[in-house]
Amino acid sequence: MGGFGSGKQGGKRCTNDNLALDVRSINRAGRLTPGSWFTWQWTRNGEITSSIQLQVEADSVVLDYRSRSNHHGSGEWEPMRYTVALDRTPCGFGGKRVWWRCPAVGCGRRVAVLYGGRVFACRQCNHLAYASQREADDDRATRRADTIRRRLGWEPGILNGNGLKPKGMHWRTFERLEASHDFHVNAALAGMAVKLGLLGERLDMIDFPH
Ligand SMILES: [Zn+2]
Repeated sequence: MGGFGSGKQGGKRCTNDNLALDVRSINRAGRLTPGSWFTWQWTRNGEITSSIQLQVEADSVVLDYRSRSNHHGSGEWEPMRYTVALDRTPCGFGGKRVWWRCPAVGCGRRVAVLYGGRVFACRQCNHLAYASQREADDDRATRRADTIRRRLGWEPGILNGNGLKPKGMHWRTFERLEASHDFHVNAALAGMAVKLGLLGERLDMIDFPH
């Protein structure tokens, strides 16, 4: 799943969704040397799909990459750079186990794996971020559909079905508006289906082994 770059600035230094950043793998590879930096890459079928740059400090790692500004991957590229604290706990025979501290505001959970990716955070925070983003998307789709319904003089509420072409409106205009309306309704209904558990939680499908 993950892999290392050459240490030079390779890859695209950008992220997609559903990335796992496991501090144990990084540590095992001997990369947690303060003052060093390297590129961590994710590949699929031999192709680099995402990569980020990590700068290692004594008790933290700086993550540096670019991300699309919305989770559909259609927004503007946005530079991301923030610090993730490391924590070390004793583990038998004088060894130390290394952990991330989740960088999400108000969290700080000690975890082995952070999930990206617009931001990398613990599983719980990632769930929250994803749910609120989805909520916002659903609401926006519903609002857009309702705006069109008002313009067409249809009964408010996307569950009320489509109405008729208003008198005096060109058929072409009507067809365009109705197509746009249906698109937003479908997006909103798909979101509702997910909320109702009909389609399954996307994040549940990427349950990485612990
Ligand atoms: Zn968290």
